[in-house]
Amino acid sequence: MFKELMCPRCEESLRNVINAMCEGYAIHEIICDDDGIPSNFRFLEVNCAFEEITGLNRDEILGKTVKDIYPNITSSWIEIYGRVALTGEPVYFENYFELLDKYFRVSVFTPQKGKFITLFMEITELKKTEEIMKKHKLLFECAQDAVLYVRDDGMVIDANDSACKLYGYTYEELLRLNIHDIRHFSMKPYFEHQMLQADEGGTVFESVHVRKDGTDFAVEVSAKGTIIGSEKVRIHIIRDIAERKLAEEKIIYLANHDSLTGIPNRAFLMQELTRALDLADRGQYKLSLLLFDIDKFKQVNDVYGHQAGDVVLKTVAARIKAVIRSVDTVARLGGDEFIIILPMFKDKSEILTIINRMFETLNEPIIFNNVNLYVHISVGIGIYPDDALDKESLIKYADTAMYEAKKESGNTYSF
Ligand code: GH3
Ligand code: MG
Repeated sequence: MFKELMCPRCEESLRNVINAMCEGYAIHEIICDDDGIPSNFRFLEVNCAFEEITGLNRDEILGKTVKDIYPNITSSWIEIYGRVALTGEPVYFENYFELLDKYFRVSVFTPQKGKFITLFMEITELKKTEEIMKKHKLLFECAQDAVLYVRDDGMVIDANDSACKLYGYTYEELLRLNIHDIRHFSMKPYFEHQMLQADEGGTVFESVHVRKDGTDFAVEVSAKGTIIGSEKVRIHIIRDIAERKLAEEKIIYLANHDSLTGIPNRAFLMQELTRALDLADRGQYKLSLLLFDIDKFKQVNDVYGHQAGDVVLKTVAARIKAVIRSVDTVARLGGDEFIIILPMFKDKSEILTIINRMFETLNEPIIFNNVNLYVHISVGIGIYPDDALDKESLIKYADTAMYEAKKESGNTYSF
């Protein structure tokens, strides 16, 4: 083929150059039908890269037509190449070749009428990377969560729209900030450890961030260290969890409080008692448990109605809460039964002082629909570790003492 164009030495050196190229090279001769319309083409020469990329063997294809090799070739390809060979107008394109399952960047031009050269390089990896990048870009732009790319020195180097909205900064303003500018200062002690975990495979943690207007809010951060180009970068995906935190707090509150009176419930009391007994052990303190029940409470319900009973329960809870110390806990066990934990006391007189304050406050009538209701309680007292050595036994002890007290009428107590 080259012989037609140049001297043998030039031809050899050109062949060497062509064989050394990374691009696939093939020169073809177009074949036309009786009407002069391109209908096939013949392989005249190919280089080594062509053989490597296509998997076709030079000796097996030279002199053959494309239809001999790919009988199912689409006629539009023959049309495109034929146009180049006959008009001399080159074409360039990128295409996916199903036959080879590869992407190519192709230049097609003619060295001489009726012939055409294809120069092509495989760009499958490049295309795949481009597609991944496109997906990443889409994810970055469409993410509901804020995404920040943060350099090793803490400077923000990229941010998505959600980040701008979340913090109230413009994109340009965000790029002038350091990650510490948007983290609440109280979070500083945890930063180093969190970033270490981010670099060691990624981490998710809760934190507090600050908006441009200075307000702070709870966030969940998913952070991961990576290398982009030659730079060490951490990707922070930030989710505003203020609402979730409020909901969680509400659930915890509801799980631990009595819905009628608003004071702690049995579940909270049992946890608190475990904690208080532990503290008492460690500090060698005594702990006192007061269990009380309203006397003849059923009568309130029966005579004045359930609503009156509810008002009595709420008022008793509020009044008792007001007379105990801040370290003490009052909880509703259920029905008209309550428990008070006095975690630290020196002698019984302290307990009696509190009990007297309770009786005093309950001596005041509870007004329901202009009727004065008077309630009395019976109190049973158990002391740890004198009366019992675990919480269940202590409650049982106080309960027995309470029934002893109930035998006498009026506000009474029993140790
Ligand atoms: P005692 O003097 O022996 O304590 O008798 P009592 O009438 O107080 O009856 P007891 O303590 O055995 O029963 C408590 C009653 O409290 C039973 C129940 O109908 C009523 N009760 C329980 N929970 C509620 C509530 O949430 N609201 C109202 N209004 N009543 C309740
Ligand atoms: Mg009762």
